[in-house]
Amino acid sequence: MARTLPDLLRIEWPAESPAPPAQTERALDRAAEVLRRGGLVAIPTETVYGLAADALDEDAVAGIFRAKGRPASNPLIVHVSDVAMAQALAGAWPPAAEAIASAFWPGPVTVVVPRGPRIPDVVTAGGATVALRCPEHRLTRRLIDKVGRPLAAPSANRSEAVSATTAHHVLAGLGSRVELILDGGSCGRGIESTVVDCTVDPPQILRPGPVGAAELQATLGRPIAAGGAAVGADGPARSPGTRSRHYAPRTPLEMPIDPPGRVASLLAAGGRVGWMTVHAADPQVRSLAASRDLVIVPMPCQPEEFARVLYATLHALDQRGLERIVADPPPEGEAWRAVRDRLTRAAAAGDAPA
Ligand code: AMP
Ligand code: MG
Repeated sequence: MARTLPDLLRIEWPAESPAPPAQTERALDRAAEVLRRGGLVAIPTETVYGLAADALDEDAVAGIFRAKGRPASNPLIVHVSDVAMAQALAGAWPPAAEAIASAFWPGPVTVVVPRGPRIPDVVTAGGATVALRCPEHRLTRRLIDKVGRPLAAPSANRSEAVSATTAHHVLAGLGSRVELILDGGSCGRGIESTVVDCTVDPPQILRPGPVGAAELQATLGRPIAAGGAAVGADGPARSPGTRSRHYAPRTPLEMPIDPPGRVASLLAAGGRVGWMTVHAADPQVRSLAASRDLVIVPMPCQPEEFARVLYATLHALDQRGLERIVADPPPEGEAWRAVRDRLTRAAAAGDAPA
């Protein structure tokens, strides 16, 4: 591609300031102009970076699919600046969507609702529902208001690759496929939003994320189906983030039952190994640490912290020229569900052809 690399513009809004600095306003104005004429802009959100286009402009949205190499069968999440904008795009606004939006928006939960007539087919992959989310990042909401349109924005990475949680991940992964990158720093949550289908009864979690089943259940005052598709059950793209091959580093990743034993045997076979472990201080781990062929990455013991650094760790290990990434299997239980989901899919992808 002959195009030059995108501009990378830093944006910030200090907590104590009533308005963003002038330089940030100029960056948002430029981004809004690119989006209004149908271009692609990478935007920070609290989950991961998004690759945004005007959601009501069919050609602009088609550009997202081209830039990502994303199958047209995978629908996109539409980002709005408030509940009123979401309601105006929905064909109906179910009580579950209302309850979730009032409890968690702006925030990392996406609601799937009946689609309204303004949403082009390309956004929903021809489906009768649309996924809507109001992001927590206030500069991104300000951008949506400047454009005056909702923004379709999947994660700002090539299809199936590891999601971007910094502007530099976007630059490395998409390069000149994106026109402008707004650099809002590292994403606070670090993994994609929880996706809840509000068109079924009871509502169903299609993709686990930062907001868990227990919190959603408490808000809805009734049970919620925590399912999501089983790994390996590729089926129709009910929710693309639930396909088994996703979030994959280029280096094959595995989650063995006995990580120290597996690492030892990979090293004995002459491989260079990266090991993501929450047990870095254990004697068994330390006994292997002397190997020059082993990169040990101590991972946080709290699920929220683990999620925040997960993709950045995978991006960093991918740069090291390793044969294998080994990750300790995360603990069982609801709190670790989203992290387990992402790691399991990253590992499943390790077995797939490149
Ligand atoms: P990403 O490309 O990582 O932003 O993922 C997009 C996500 O959007 C998928 O994982 C789906 O869960 C969700 N999604 C978008 N539209 C729909 C829809 N109409 N029905 C169900 N899920 C959707
Ligand atoms: Mg994605």
